[in-house]
Amino acid sequence: MNSDLVGPLKALLKTEKRIVLVPHKNPDGDAIGSCLGLQRFFEAHHHTTHLISPNDFPEFLKWMPGAETVINFEKNRNEAEKIIASADLIFTLDFNALNRTGAMQEALEKATCPFVMVDHHQSPENYAEVTYSDAQMSSTCEMVYHLIDRLGAASEIDAEIATCLYTGILTDTGSFKYPGTTPTTMRVTAELMERGARHTQIHRYIYDTNRVERLQLLGCALQNLVILKPYRTAYITLTQEDLNRHNFQKGDTEGFVNYALSLKDVVLAAIFIENKEEGIVKISLRSQGDFSVNDLARSHFNGGGHINAAGGRSDESLEATTARFERILPLYEKQLNR
Ligand code: 5GP
Ligand code: MN
Repeated sequence: MNSDLVGPLKALLKTEKRIVLVPHKNPDGDAIGSCLGLQRFFEAHHHTTHLISPNDFPEFLKWMPGAETVINFEKNRNEAEKIIASADLIFTLDFNALNRTGAMQEALEKATCPFVMVDHHQSPENYAEVTYSDAQMSSTCEMVYHLIDRLGAASEIDAEIATCLYTGILTDTGSFKYPGTTPTTMRVTAELMERGARHTQIHRYIYDTNRVERLQLLGCALQNLVILKPYRTAYITLTQEDLNRHNFQKGDTEGFVNYALSLKDVVLAAIFIENKEEGIVKISLRSQGDFSVNDLARSHFNGGGHINAAGGRSDESLEATTARFERILPLYEKQLNR
């Protein structure tokens, strides 16, 4: 963390504040972990805190310490709007543009208090008083560790904070295998283990608590796999009907796209998931090597993310969306075959 951020941050936190912490919509382990970890740290420093999520988060994260106190904006809009309006300080974590909070965007734009952004996505918006942005970081959870450390408070990280931060690092690094995992990430992780994060248990909670319906939905997804050899690309589709048939619950499709990427010689993978309620197709993109799915998502699918992991959406039908995807690929043929 850049040293010129430490002073302004300390100044903002000098007196007791009403702090709101916000993850992005459809929060993942890193978004929820970073918010919960930082929330607990602030609570220990006698700030009053609320963690408001734009919408619900997956069952496989609900065991996390403090998860039961998260306010769901979608479900408790009035209460959440009041809390945001009376906040002294708003921390936005794991995203870099207010539209990533969906329906919560309006309430956040109305807020007059200072914002602090902690995030590892490229090209941050300029809405925060303090912007701690670093696209080289493995995860926002790793950044929260550095932030606490730079406040001189690493020794205050207890087992609960360590557990939250470990979880986000684990999920955002693909269990420490993505290129964004650095020696520093591993040092931070080691420190979190020493402070009480129980890695075997956390891995089990995250990855080994499947419902049979989810495994069968995975089976369905793999049946729907399309391979486009000339473009070293593979993609998966799931219709709303597929989801309904397998009693879909939030988070069930997490990681499915990686099966497409695991194919030998595939460097670009996608999953297209129909969402009839929102009238959109949600898209997740993954790549190997230097092919940037961030660029692809930004240029064609109203999205963004990182070089090797990005997401976006389409307002067209599932068929029209995949047809468009297939029409786009020739533009990238050279890059995909480098
Ligand atoms: P996922 O595919 O797991 O939903 O997301 C992969 C990465 O892309 C994450 O870093 C996530 O924040 C980012 N991402 C996913 N969906 C969107 C989107 O609609 N817009 C933007 N800007 N980023 C997204
Ligand atoms: Mn993240």
